[in-house]
Amino acid sequence: MNMRESINTQRLQALDSAHHLHPFADYRLKDSQISRVIVKGEGAYIWDSEGNRLLDGMAGLWCMNVGYGRKSIADAVHAQMLQLTYYNSFFQTTHVPAVELAAKLVQISPPQFNHVFFVGSGSEGNDTIVRLVRHYWDKQGSPERQVIISRLNSYHGSTMAGASLGGWPSMHKQGGLPIPGIVHIGQPSYLEGGKGKTPEEFGLEAASWLEHKILEVGADKVAAFIGEPVQGAGGVIVPPSTYWPEIQRICNKYGILLVADEVVCGFGRLGHWFGSEYFGISPDLITFAKGVTSGYVPLGGVLVGDRVANALIEKGGEFNHGYTYSGHPIGCVAALENIRILEEEKIVDRVRTDSGPYLQKKFEALASHPLVGSAETIGFLGGLNLVKHKGATVHEHIPFESALSVGMICRAHMFDSGVIMRAIPGDRLLMSPPLTLTHAEIDEMIKLIGLGLDQTLADLKQRGWV
Ligand SMILES: *Cc1c(COP(=O)(O)O)cnc(C)c1O
Repeated sequence: MNMRESINTQRLQALDSAHHLHPFADYRLKDSQISRVIVKGEGAYIWDSEGNRLLDGMAGLWCMNVGYGRKSIADAVHAQMLQLTYYNSFFQTTHVPAVELAAKLVQISPPQFNHVFFVGSGSEGNDTIVRLVRHYWDKQGSPERQVIISRLNSYHGSTMAGASLGGWPSMHKQGGLPIPGIVHIGQPSYLEGGKGKTPEEFGLEAASWLEHKILEVGADKVAAFIGEPVQGAGGVIVPPSTYWPEIQRICNKYGILLVADEVVCGFGRLGHWFGSEYFGISPDLITFAKGVTSGYVPLGGVLVGDRVANALIEKGGEFNHGYTYSGHPIGCVAALENIRILEEEKIVDRVRTDSGPYLQKKFEALASHPLVGSAETIGFLGGLNLVKHKGATVHEHIPFESALSVGMICRAHMFDSGVIMRAIPGDRLLMSPPLTLTHAEIDEMIKLIGLGLDQTLADLKQRGWV
């Protein structure tokens, strides 16, 4: 592409502002908040229309696991488009990519999974989860088991069911959510709730909220518990080691289904194919999307464990659910090639044994920066908190006033220094880079983050805020 001829930044920005309503945006501000135009991606880097190169510390939106610009994925998609661009899997038809991908996913997933239901996105996957678990309990002769327990500050997508499962009041407010039969418990955030406790004590306490909620709702009314192994969009909340085993024990005790939303954690991000394996839990259902295709083509799905699949197979009765694009052949071939790359380049193993530990050492050292109250990683996920004054423990740090939006200021400085991080409320900056980063690229990313932090500190000093 001849960029100089074809990219007129100001024209694009004007048209964008005039006609394009962005996701999660305040439309009153759309004329003042001019969007950066991204025009190219290669490996871990993207370029904007002004020629600036940025290290994509967020892998797009948590999804570019194998990085940008993989020709073999483009080739697989191209060939499939010529062979069979589309067909559906309704009414006793199927096609090669969907069959091959289903078999491949069964091969790489934990042993209890032998079936896959395909969807187009993570949100659609979680809608499918709601339909599926309620259908399951109906078939088990317990139609009153309707309630799904989720967590505050979890993210499960933006459709009606996805946003209902998610624990964001700002989303619930718009559209009369949650839909009936979805309730929430607190999140296992040690930073938020762990003051005066060890992480292990707090993990058990946070898990006990599930049992309290089950007893409050009535155990015979609860269908499932859903959680992200590590909350992504909520802030890379790493649960204490005691949390997930206790959640598993409670689900087992009351016979309720355990659902892992692995849309972020799946496909290598925690150094395992699935985050559930990192935590040693055995979910009945897994939602996946994002990393399954490394974002090259939209695709998602639900891994259906034997407990649910076998019951539905045995009991029979149509599951009245599916999407036009369930198992879209283009998404499926992109996923197959993506998984082949992850395997061939041993990317999942590298995250677990080499690049993940290296990233951890480098990223956690950022905590010595005067602005950084805490910095932690798990696999290729990370988060750091900006604080005004550091105390002796993470619970004694003094935060900035939230109205100052220090996190957003810092994110802008990160952009200027050449690295993309995501800022969320609480002045927390998140990282979820492509899993392909070499040690040299990790070094560069940490250097750029350090630069961004230094610029932020200088800026805040100038404003008289520190
Ligand atoms: C992104 C995300 C979703 C929603 O996926 P979409 O493809 O945006 O619909 C669901 N769950 C988690 C954990 C996510 O991070």
